[in-house]
Amino acid sequence: MITFYPGPSKVYPEVEQFISEAFASGLISANHRSEVFMQLLEKTIADLKAKLDIPAGYEVYLVSSATECWEIIAQSLLIDSSLHIYNGAFGEKWMEYTHRISLRTSDAAFGLNETLLMDRSAVFSRNELICVTHNETSNGTKIPEDFLLDIRKKVDNLIAVDATSSMAGVVLPWENADVWYASVQKCFGLPAGLAVMVVSPKAIERAIQVGERKHYNSLLFIRDNFLKFQTPFTPNILGIYLLGKVMQQVPAIEQTDKQTRRRAHDWYAFLLENGYELVVENTAVRSDTVIAVRETKERISELKGAAKREGITLGNGYGKEKDTSFRIANFPAISDAEIATLKAFLVKMAAY
Ligand SMILES: *Cc1c(COP(=O)(O)O)cnc(C)c1O
Repeated sequence: MITFYPGPSKVYPEVEQFISEAFASGLISANHRSEVFMQLLEKTIADLKAKLDIPAGYEVYLVSSATECWEIIAQSLLIDSSLHIYNGAFGEKWMEYTHRISLRTSDAAFGLNETLLMDRSAVFSRNELICVTHNETSNGTKIPEDFLLDIRKKVDNLIAVDATSSMAGVVLPWENADVWYASVQKCFGLPAGLAVMVVSPKAIERAIQVGERKHYNSLLFIRDNFLKFQTPFTPNILGIYLLGKVMQQVPAIEQTDKQTRRRAHDWYAFLLENGYELVVENTAVRSDTVIAVRETKERISELKGAAKREGITLGNGYGKEKDTSFRIANFPAISDAEIATLKAFLVKMAAY
């Protein structure tokens, strides 16, 4: 079976070998306060920072999921309120989770084909945390290239970014935001159960100012532990081991970024040439990592059924576009041969 599901998604084939190595090494039975574990964590974070080109002053913590990051941010970084700028299901969920904790969220939803411009959602109050979804996995949109920079230039509010389906797939403008996070089951090509949280010096200052330490996953408590290369709770040691191995294996992010963008460009051209309709018409906001294709409900079930018989898994639609789209992951772990197989299938199906 080859899979184009946008999460959980295809795991790098090398992971099978890495799992055996982890088992043989004894690391996965080691105490998480032991020297070997601390060395593993230190090296994993160093390799991750190097490969993804994360600024030296930013700190990296590993937690369980992107969903947990929503909770951590709501608990530990909010002073007055949060402003959620989103156009799809994940951005909306982030707002809903935050609202349950803080009750002070405001909504800046925008349209699917809208190129988000600063003047449109430009009423920021001081101390308001700005929450943006870098790549909206549900509908295949991304924020326009300069959007975060424009906010940065205008206000000095803290900015948090959900980059779950773009981190490790494309170059991220780290300096233009303060908190970035992603689960590893998307562009990292790893099994689920771990998330990467990247935090700026300004976000750390904010956490200290808020001083929240009520939870096992309070940001300051996580930080205290990570400064010693430990974790607040017994972590997913196997997941951390695999993340380290994959970070050693992958090329520098600039190179991955080139491949991702080239493949995305090819996918969009290919789909249009073959008579498929894209969910996102505005080319400025078309995602590089998740491609959403519009079809009727009947046609989708026909396509998915036929794909399955050929050993191909397509991604379901999600959120509002659940029944009217299917999605194709464009993640780095997917090979050119697999892409060629799916394209051949889609050419064949286009004729029906
Ligand atoms: C997948 C996804 C999430 C949720 O990730 P979990 O690991 O299930 O918590 C959140 N945001 C975006 C943009 C996603 O793509």
